[in-house]
Amino acid sequence: MDECIFCKIVKGDIPSAKVYEDERTFAFDDIQPMAPVHVLIVPKGHVETVMDLAEDDDLAKDLLTAAQKVARIKKVDRSGFRLVVNCGSDGGQIVSHLHLHLLGGKKLADEMG
Ligand code: AMP
Ligand code: ZN
Repeated sequence: MDECIFCKIVKGDIPSAKVYEDERTFAFDDIQPMAPVHVLIVPKGHVETVMDLAEDDDLAKDLLTAAQKVARIKKVDRSGFRLVVNCGSDGGQIVSHLHLHLLGGKKLADEMG
């Protein structure tokens, strides 16, 4: 997707603070952090929402494995963290390229929505 901001970040056309990268995933600091640790984990290929994940693809697992690695890199694997995936307009998804928010580094609010 030519216009997609996260595709541009994956390609390096827009700068980002990279945290982790492997064959299929890319992780970088959120530009407007909601917690001391706030990392976005995205597939390198353009996938719009969690509803577009193919059942026969291991991408969901790859994203969760990347999240584990990011948690260790950011040293929140023991203290804990929250993974959030917004989907569509009611879910508050602004960027239409699937991403996991990994939030931590403080005691997070109890409300989920
Ligand atoms: P969502 O509401 O789930 O679509 O979240 C999109 C997230 O992308 C927000 O937390 C933004 O702060 C973040 N974001 C948007 N542009 C950038 C960027 N260029 N670099 C890093 N994070 C970004
Ligand atoms: Zn994209």
